Amino acid sequence: MTAMLLAGKVALVTGGARGIGAATARLLAGEGARVAVADRREDEGDAVVDALNVARPGSAVFVPLDVTSEESWRSAIDATELAFGLISVLVNNAGIIRVAPLEQMTLDNFRKVIDTNLIGTFLGLKYGAESLKRAGGGSIVNFSSVQGMEGRQGFTAYSASKFGIRGLTKSAAIELGPHNIRVNAVVPGPTKTKMIERPGWADEDYDRMYGKYPLGRMANPEEVARMVLFLASDQSSFCTGGDYLVDGGTLAGKPRE
Ligand code: NAD
Repeated sequence: MTAMLLAGKVALVTGGARGIGAATARLLAGEGARVAVADRREDEGDAVVDALNVARPGSAVFVPLDVTSEESWRSAIDATELAFGLISVLVNNAGIIRVAPLEQMTLDNFRKVIDTNLIGTFLGLKYGAESLKRAGGGSIVNFSSVQGMEGRQGFTAYSASKFGIRGLTKSAAIELGPHNIRVNAVVPGPTKTKMIERPGWADEDYDRMYGKYPLGRMANPEEVARMVLFLASDQSSFCTGGDYLVDGGTLAGKPRE
């Protein structure tokens, strides 16, 4: 039998209640990690945790977290350490999107996106790094996006936040490398979650929208989570400060005509 990739590790996954975060929590737990599912959606987070604990009793706990609040970060990290011990894998996955033409983008919405995506990741690095240092090192995985590599109409706030996360990732990788902490960014393309659901759209509408890209479809959350697992585990032991595309070729070049 092959050894599990994260046996004995403790992971905290922000935004773990749904979408890519929930898929990541499942995959990390399946590879032997004890996982703190950290989110502001308690009911959905509890459901993810319950399912994990049925599969492997004692492998998961729900931790309430609003990534924009310093106080909330301190409590979430304390709660995780109390439940499982020092953290060695931190996944800063929580994120939101607001799309609007520049002139109609409200300051409030612009700030909300920056606050959740960019400042939320900064606070995760700031407070999470302490636990990882005491654990003797580990891996932090941040979430950028293809819109963190190129702009898109209506995406000013989201794109600014996701470009920012890549800068944050590289600077943190330089600072935390000497503490044996690797910091990388995942760059997902369109992924089938609530975040990109459009009211009234059927599967054919999404197929039409994404059909012009090389793989011609959206990702499933598990396909993105597999990259997180690689970066979280020792399989990526010489990778830090990098951007890791899981985009179905979205960024390869111009879409098919
Ligand atoms: P989702 O909307 O399905 O899930 C996001 C999760 O984050 C939710 O559980 C939500 O409650 C949580 N969250 C939001 N704000 C929070 C806060 N302040 N504190 C704590 N938790 C909070 O989204 P998803 O598609 O699973 O996205 C996960 C990550 O992947 C995000 O960072 C997103 O920007 C990125 N991403 C998604 C796509 C995509 O197409 N779905 C593409 C590229 C990047």
